[in-house]
Amino acid sequence: GEKRAIMDETAIRRGLTRIAHEIVEKNKGIDGCVLVGIRTRGVYLAHRLAEQIREIEGTPVICGELDITGYRDDRRGEGGSANAAMADTSGQPLSIHDKRVILIDDVLYTGRTIRAAMDALMDLGRPQSIQLAVLLDRGHRELPIRPDYVGKNVPTSKQESIRVSLQEVDGEDNVTITEQ
Ligand code: 5GP
Ligand code: MG
Repeated sequence: GEKRAIMDETAIRRGLTRIAHEIVEKNKGIDGCVLVGIRTRGVYLAHRLAEQIREIEGTPVICGELDITGYRDDRRGEGGSANAAMADTSGQPLSIHDKRVILIDDVLYTGRTIRAAMDALMDLGRPQSIQLAVLLDRGHRELPIRPDYVGKNVPTSKQESIRVSLQEVDGEDNVTITEQ
């Protein structure tokens, strides 16, 4: 169907730069924070934000990834395990106890993935708090979840879908919207 460009490489870079500054401002630095990307594209966004925050603050940023296969309420029983896996970039287990966890995903839609991610995190420990950063918020929430940091709000119809391409996996940076 019809395809519309909504973010180019520059817009993605600027959006992430703004979010990096907002994270540092809200948390008065980055001490005690852990960035947690949700597979797949949330992980690459988490790494980009971690690198930008490292440049702003001059300190290393703890970055991990979460695999929530099996936690989605609407996908239970489809063979996914309900074991959360939280690892740092070298595959070592990562503690979130008493940490400010900043969840990062590419697109926020119904909110069910984030609810599942919060369930998975709570099973792993007791974070001090959880914040949410997304590159795109396309609306249509079915749960009381809102992002703390948003790259771009994109009102969509349920028939539309957003395509997020990232250099690391897709060979280019851009966001388009298509009618199905
Ligand atoms: P939700 O669980 O909030 O309904 O959907 C969010 C999850 O599904 C995210 O992990 C996101 O990657 C994926 N998702 C939902 N809608 C879209 C969309 O329009 N485009 C892309 N690229 N991912 C989506
Ligand atoms: Mg996803």
